[in-house]
Amino acid sequence: MAAEKKNKKIDARELICTTCGGRRRLIHKYGLEVCGRCFREVASKIGFKKYN
Ligand SMILES: [Zn+2]
Repeated sequence: MAAEKKNKKIDARELICTTCGGRRRLIHKYGLEVCGRCFREVASKIGFKKYN
């Protein structure tokens, strides 16, 4: 019964998009943790239009 692994050194932070909850390639910029898709949406909301 000791086979249960207790999160073997997994960082408390899981890389999950804070907007859609998806686990895609996340963008860590400007304090955001969102996937590429959501980043565009969020970015436009915070007035960031220059994202290609
Ligand atoms: Zn997302």
